[in-house]
Amino acid sequence: MSSDLRLLLTNDDGVDAKGLRALAEALRSIGEVTVVAPDREQSATGHSLTLDRPLRLRELGEGVHAVDGTPTDCVNLAILWLMEEEPPDLVVSGINHGLNLGDDVTYSGTVSATFEGVLLGVPSIAFSQQLESGFSFERSAEIAARLVGRLLAEELPRDLLLNVNLPAASPRGVNLTKLGKRVYQQVIAEKKDPRGRRYFWIAGTPEWQEEAGSDHEAISDDRVSVTPLHLDLTDYDRLRADPDELLERLREPD
Ligand code: MN
Repeated sequence: MSSDLRLLLTNDDGVDAKGLRALAEALRSIGEVTVVAPDREQSATGHSLTLDRPLRLRELGEGVHAVDGTPTDCVNLAILWLMEEEPPDLVVSGINHGLNLGDDVTYSGTVSATFEGVLLGVPSIAFSQQLESGFSFERSAEIAARLVGRLLAEELPRDLLLNVNLPAASPRGVNLTKLGKRVYQQVIAEKKDPRGRRYFWIAGTPEWQEEAGSDHEAISDDRVSVTPLHLDLTDYDRLRADPDELLERLREPD
């Protein structure tokens, strides 16, 4: 394998997170790894971009940088400035501490970093870890690095976007999957603070619809789940189904 491959590694758990450290180590067998990651936890920040204040990039060691911003900020600074001369061959995000399944990818800073990679023209892959008993970031990082190595053996389409989830158990194989669906939403816990004022906490554990071929099914089966994603959110089925009816409802009456 060509050793001049360049990998940009980021995450949303912060530059010191164990999942990122393990993945950086494993990816160094594939190519040159540049880490640009948030200086603190940025989980569930989604695809947010910081535009209302300056950003600082601090070099912590050779090829390791911390940014006081979101994962999306990190990918921007890396591709458009730090690695501008020689852009990365792949953006890798993770390994996230916790799964990013189904509808949850819309909240995920880990997955949003890969959205940004693809928007900037670099194929991107996110890795997330199930944190049940028996999980190992080292084992998952080895698996992730093998998958990345196989992918990079051939030229990748610039819009390749993969969301990978790793089971806590030693995986029994790899499944190509679709995003699963949540059965119910979060709940709002209403409490009183010591001064008697109301506050709220968004809580609840997601539960997933049993669905053949879903990412959730693969993880329940102790298999690595690989979901190809795309960023075109257009609902083509609705667009084709009955456009006249929809248009009629949107139009002002004559
Ligand atoms: Mn996270």
